[in-house]
Amino acid sequence: MPTIELKNCSKRYGKAGVLALDHFNQSFSPGIYGILGPNGAGKSTLFNILSGTLSMTEGSLIFDGQPVEKNWVQYKKHLGFMPQQQNLYPDMTPASFLQYMAVLKAVPGHSIKDELERVLHLTQLESKRYHKIQSLSGGMKQRLLISQALLGDPELLILDEPTAGLDPSQRVVIRNLLSDLSREKIVLISTHVVSDIELISREILLMKKGRCIVRGRLPEILQKYADISWEIITDEAGSQEAEDSYAVSRVQILADAGIRLRIVGSFDSPPQLQGQSFEPVEPTLEDVYLYLFQEDVRHA
Ligand code: ADP
Repeated sequence: MPTIELKNCSKRYGKAGVLALDHFNQSFSPGIYGILGPNGAGKSTLFNILSGTLSMTEGSLIFDGQPVEKNWVQYKKHLGFMPQQQNLYPDMTPASFLQYMAVLKAVPGHSIKDELERVLHLTQLESKRYHKIQSLSGGMKQRLLISQALLGDPELLILDEPTAGLDPSQRVVIRNLLSDLSREKIVLISTHVVSDIELISREILLMKKGRCIVRGRLPEILQKYADISWEIITDEAGSQEAEDSYAVSRVQILADAGIRLRIVGSFDSPPQLQGQSFEPVEPTLEDVYLYLFQEDVRHA
């Protein structure tokens, strides 16, 4: 069973730069890991280090018990990477792009044809294989980028924002695809969209300022933050007042014209609005995210 371990990994961009990754210590075995955090949390830095596109300032990477630094060539055979920014050649077709990527990834010549069929099938792009990339939808382009990461059937898949720029229905397609792929692979997915990963992740990691501040299974995380969510039924004026005083996580217009408001925060006694108390409710992962990253979310 493959494992990847990051030991005390740090990255500083330039001598005076911030620590984009700050003594990061985590290990992963097969399953999907959702890595959440606001912009600047260090997710891309982490992924670029794991994929070997960026060197770390300090620390080591261990794959299957072996230091990666001494054997990048071997390590890269086990790795599939979908970076955040990736240019697709508009005049190429999925078939020619994947052929090109298979050669770059040193897939043996005799198995390239089968490998292309396999990844096109997994990502449901068979019918588009000879269409120009420029004619594909955003969701199909993202699936094509995932399919190049799958070439060679790697045990470690690193996907940086695989659903960036997609609408909700396309996100669902990608989510289901990733969920199917996770058997026997370590799949690390970064996103700042909670719903992309909360249902499919074995574990969730929340990152802030280059550190992992929370890691666990969804129920464990929700248990840990069991007392941060509060709800109240109010009206338009109450809703306005709450927006000014609290971190509002959800606003639901009710059929009778009332408004159900959800806020997050830690309070010594139940928070109040217009003389009425909020009621405690069970948190969602979105609530936890907002609670931990309020400042980042407000200033985004
Ligand atoms: P995320 O992917 O979570 O948005 P990043 O890894 O891109 O976070 O960024 C982490 C921190 O490192 C941020 O403070 C960002 O400004 C900084 N950073 C990222 N890339 C560079 C770079 N090439 N040069 C200098 N600073 C960088």
